[in-house]
Amino acid sequence: PQENMSLLTCNASSGEIEELEDDCISYFIKKKLRVWCKEPRGKWELGTILSTSGEEASVSISNRNVMKVDRSELLPANPDILEGADDLMKLSYLNEPSVLRNLKFRYSKEMIYSKAGPVLIALNPFKDLSIYGTDYVSAYRQKFIDAPHVYAMADAAYSDMLRDEVNQSIIISGESGSGKTETAKIAIQYLAAVGGGSGGIENKLLQTSCILEAFGNAKTFENDNSSRFSRVVQSGSTERSYHIFYQLCAGASSALKETLNLRPISEYKYLNQSDCVKIAGVDDARKFQELMRALDTVQICEEDQELIFKMVAAVLWLGNISFQVNDSENHIEVVDDEAVTSAALLMGCSSQELMAALSTGRAQSEDGTITKKLSLQQAIDTRGAIAKFIYATLFEWLVEQLNKSLQVGKKCTGKSISILDIYGFETLQKNSFEQFCINYANERLQQHFNRHLFKLEQQDYESDGIDWTKIDFVDNQECLDLFEKKPLGLLSLLDEESNLPKASDLTFANKLKQHLSPNPCFKGERGRAFGVRHYRGEVLYDTNGFLEKNRDLLPFDSVQLLSSCNCELLQFFAKVSSQSQKESNSFHTSALDSQKQSIGTKLKGQLFMLMCQLESTKPHFIQCIRPNTKQLPGIYDEDLVLQQIRCCGVLEVARISRVGYSNRMTHQEFSERYGFLLSEANVSQDPLSISVAILQQFNIPCEMYQVGYTKLYLRAGQIGALEDKRKQVL
Ligand code: ADP
Ligand code: MG
Repeated sequence: PQENMSLLTCNASSGEIEELEDDCISYFIKKKLRVWCKEPRGKWELGTILSTSGEEASVSISNRNVMKVDRSELLPANPDILEGADDLMKLSYLNEPSVLRNLKFRYSKEMIYSKAGPVLIALNPFKDLSIYGTDYVSAYRQKFIDAPHVYAMADAAYSDMLRDEVNQSIIISGESGSGKTETAKIAIQYLAAVGGGSGGIENKLLQTSCILEAFGNAKTFENDNSSRFSRVVQSGSTERSYHIFYQLCAGASSALKETLNLRPISEYKYLNQSDCVKIAGVDDARKFQELMRALDTVQICEEDQELIFKMVAAVLWLGNISFQVNDSENHIEVVDDEAVTSAALLMGCSSQELMAALSTGRAQSEDGTITKKLSLQQAIDTRGAIAKFIYATLFEWLVEQLNKSLQVGKKCTGKSISILDIYGFETLQKNSFEQFCINYANERLQQHFNRHLFKLEQQDYESDGIDWTKIDFVDNQECLDLFEKKPLGLLSLLDEESNLPKASDLTFANKLKQHLSPNPCFKGERGRAFGVRHYRGEVLYDTNGFLEKNRDLLPFDSVQLLSSCNCELLQFFAKVSSQSQKESNSFHTSALDSQKQSIGTKLKGQLFMLMCQLESTKPHFIQCIRPNTKQLPGIYDEDLVLQQIRCCGVLEVARISRVGYSNRMTHQEFSERYGFLLSEANVSQDPLSISVAILQQFNIPCEMYQVGYTKLYLRAGQIGALEDKRKQVL
């Protein structure tokens, strides 16, 4: 019956599949086969039907209990023989409990990789598995192993690139802590091994991730090694700042410590305000030695290395600078202590200059510009803005050096494979501008996924006249429009409000409510909050800090200060900033961009460019899943996995792949390749009829193919069989 059912579902839409599953339940009831039944708390339990009366069935479940459930609460279960199938597509019944059980079974056997049609699913093992390394690389390269693996996916990308001469991409998505960055490294490891060639590029490539992680990653609640972007000046109580700060303090030589006037972690305010200083199982001092070796490998010279650490130490010392309120109007003075002296020395300016930039600002008055004293909050903000600017500058500079060292984009005449490891969707208890940006980026990425796995595929079937009933998927265009539409979209309205001098987070929230309220993806909330219906579910955002963060401004005096610093790195970026400031004739300027774009608009532009780049490649998708939030091995939290499975649409992908046709060739190509196999010369020269004659001669069952106007569509396995015949003859 399973066989028959899977054939039956071949041409069904998801609605029809439900109907079929309903018929199928009658069959299951009659034959007393195993079923899934929903218990009152909503969990699916495996059981066997004992008897039925009307719409109700008595089901015996695992612990010998008998449950009475409505027919509608029953789903067909798969036969034992399919337990642990490596591709969800192979399951006779593709429903949530079956998929969950299958992945759980595999996870318990340390088979962390599975396929859902073309998509690779990777469950984070949270422990080292011996399925990587050179032996495995060559086994996958030579196709001795065909179990799902990142190596297999990287190999497919590599082979496709060589065969079709088309650029490839490996797109990795998943929540924070699900294993994206590790997966990206595993893919790089494979590609470096098989395609690195000479010149030591592979080692360099791997070393870059060590450097990027030290400066770009931090411990968060959800991940000890999370790829982050802005947390220099504050972090939560269980979180750390960027690894480099701790590594430097723990591992610097005494000579370097002296140059930087470095102190223990506990003496730095930016580090000691969190309860968390160490990460279990990580030796920061040893990591620092690894980092130094990596910097050598990518040929960052000793002078530049010192410059890097000076910037890191300057950030730490800036955090220790304190202020004194010394008049009734709340105006402040900078306390002239070791923190100021050290920070100024490391930045390459005088203490006086630094103190002036931290305590005074400019304001527009009727008679022109006047200098005025800053309030305590303004001074604290300025200190934070300078620290963030220095760190961001350092990071950008580092990325540039790494790209130079790898010669990315230069003299690159061959084809490429891009690997995208992008921050995953985030819903925290309190969602701010950072989550807003991250989730917007994820909407874009999801659209790319949908387009390639659902839209294009189905469009092709329809336009080629294939008998096809549509499979539904959640199209997120509406949500993207909510973000991007001009002038009435979230980003435009945010920019508009950011440019108004009197605007506040509250006026922004009200503006959104006023202009976006009828939009089905938008939900106005009370006060400063608003909700967005993302493809992953509804997220409530708090507009607190949105305008400030979107503007990302550096006060005029700070720009002046930084461009006068005796430090090449800072000068360059600050000059760019001050240039744009003159042009825009304003008293603030954006930190890094010469065009003075807001952060939101900049992100939109970057995403647009990223998508253009990805559109010119053949995509390979990896979906990472975290089986628990504790970062521990062996724990499979069904609800957590289910929630991720639902959101990323792998069930739908498996469905569409099963009813779809994985191979397609034009009639021309097909008849040229296999036409000579025909036993009787075909009177017609027309490629379509030659194609059909070939299919008939080899008795290819009619449910295994469809003939389109221009192409032939074949199910998995058919081309392989024809290729075998071809080889026998040749
Ligand atoms: P993400 O980038 O998605 O936030 P990471 O790639 O940093 O997540 O993974 C988080 C942690 O999970 C890693 O630090 C590592 O301990 C563990 N991990 C992820 N993938 C693997 C893997 N394939 N093998 C072993 N451990 C892994
Ligand atoms: Mg990461």
